[in-house]
Amino acid sequence: MPLTWIFDLDNTLHDTNSKIFPVINKKMAQYISQKIGVSSAQANIIRKDYWNKYGSTLRGLIKNYHINPAQFLEETHHLPNINELICPMRNLRGTLRSLKGRKIIFTNGPKNYALTVLRLSGILIYFDEIHSIEDSLLNGKPSHSGMRQFLSKHKIKNAVFIDDERLNLRTANRYGLKTVWLNQGSKKPNYISQKIRHLDDLLTLKV
Ligand SMILES: [Mg+2]
Repeated sequence: MPLTWIFDLDNTLHDTNSKIFPVINKKMAQYISQKIGVSSAQANIIRKDYWNKYGSTLRGLIKNYHINPAQFLEETHHLPNINELICPMRNLRGTLRSLKGRKIIFTNGPKNYALTVLRLSGILIYFDEIHSIEDSLLNGKPSHSGMRQFLSKHKIKNAVFIDDERLNLRTANRYGLKTVWLNQGSKKPNYISQKIRHLDDLLTLKV
């Protein structure tokens, strides 16, 4: 059976910590601060709390404040200078070009954002499909129902899932996918098939 490669986007294909996430996080905190009427410091605490509790800030805001998801995604990902904020992983294009098989993006980010990041990184052409948070009906990783919906929509059977968030891989493992964790630490939970330190380690990986 042909192999499918499933890639997370943020912090898997490009580094977000140095440039783009600080900007998006600030926009999210501003949004929360305005919607809920709290200080920006409190908004930041809420943002992190929702990320930990619900897997995304958006999910927490929907559950607790019934906010408009489309408006939230549009406002927090509106980045006119996004081309200055993209930091692709080492040897990104070469790695994707060399991997044989179908390639799919599975991200909790919005579609427009994913398309822009992939285009600016010069790797849009390597992907057959992009599954965004809208495609997940706002119920993305690491939820089980989100994973089932993803697997069924793309008719995925034999696949390797690469992500930097281990909880996403824990779910993937439950559905029989091979899991590759992009992580710098030394621990490897038993639901992780392989751990890599850099994305281009995929080139020498036996899957
Ligand atoms: Mg990620």
